[in-house]
Amino acid sequence: MADKITLGYTHLSGCTGCTVALADNYAGLLTLLDKYVDLKYMPTLADARHIQKVDVSFVEGSVCINDKLAVQEIKETREKSAIVVALGGCACYGNITRFSRGGQQNQPAHEAYLPIGDLIKVDVFIPGCAPTPQMIRNVAVMAYLLLKGTKEQKDLATAFLTPLMKLTEKNEACFCELMTQVINQGLCMGCGTCAAACPVNAITMEYGKPQGERDLCIKCGACYSQCPRSFFSFDVVENYEAINEAIMAALQ
Ligand code: SF4
Ligand code: SF4
Repeated sequence: MADKITLGYTHLSGCTGCTVALADNYAGLLTLLDKYVDLKYMPTLADARHIQKVDVSFVEGSVCINDKLAVQEIKETREKSAIVVALGGCACYGNITRFSRGGQQNQPAHEAYLPIGDLIKVDVFIPGCAPTPQMIRNVAVMAYLLLKGTKEQKDLATAFLTPLMKLTEKNEACFCELMTQVINQGLCMGCGTCAAACPVNAITMEYGKPQGERDLCIKCGACYSQCPRSFFSFDVVENYEAINEAIMAALQ
C-alpha cells in the first residue's frame, strides 16, 4: 500500500523482550501491519538480510563498541532512517548492559556497551524494560499520522511525540534521577507510580516517599519516565482525549 510508512527494526545488544512487547499488541500489531506500516527489515520476523532505507527505525539493544558489525549497523540505521526510535531501556540508557565488563568466553574483549544515543542522533525514546506494548503501538500510529496525516493529525502527533523527543537529551538513567530531578526539587507527590513501574522492585514507598535500593536498580529509566512529575507535558494532557481518540480510531 503506497501510503503506508516504511519501518525497520535493528536488533543490537538486546534480549528480544522489546520485540515480544511489540508482538504483545496481538491483533493491534496485525492492524498496524495491515493499514499503516510496511515492515522492510526486522531480523526476527523477516528475511531481509541488510538494513533498508525506511521512514522509521526502531532500535532494540545497546551497542557493543568492541563489535565492529554492531557499530556499523547503528551508523547505517541512522543513515538510512528518517526517524530513529530507541526502543527500550537498553537502547535509550544502556540498562543492564551498563554493568558489562567483558572477560567472558568466547568474546572476552566484548566489554564496553553504550546506549545508541552515544553513537548517533536519536529522535524519540520509548523507555522501559520492557516498554509497554501500548506505548510502542502509540508511537507507531503517531509516526504514521505525523508523516501521512492531515494538518490536525500532524499537530496531535507532534504534541504526543515532543516529550519523547525531549527525553533523548540524556542517555543515563537510574533511581538517582528521581532523587535529583523530582524528590530533591520538591515535586514528588508520593503517588507510587515509580514503585509500580520499576521492573525489579527496587523502589519501596517509605513514609509516603520513594526509597531506592541502588544494588537492585538495573538503570532502565522506567521510574523517571513514568513519574507524573518528571517531564509533565501540558500539551499531551490538554490533548489527551483527542490523542486517545486518534489512536483508537486508527486501530479500528
Ligand atoms: S512517581 Fe514521581 S511523584 Fe510519584 S512517588 Fe514516584 S517520584 Fe514521587
Ligand atoms: S529504580 Fe527501577 S525503574 Fe528506576 S531505573 Fe532503577 S530499575 Fe529502572
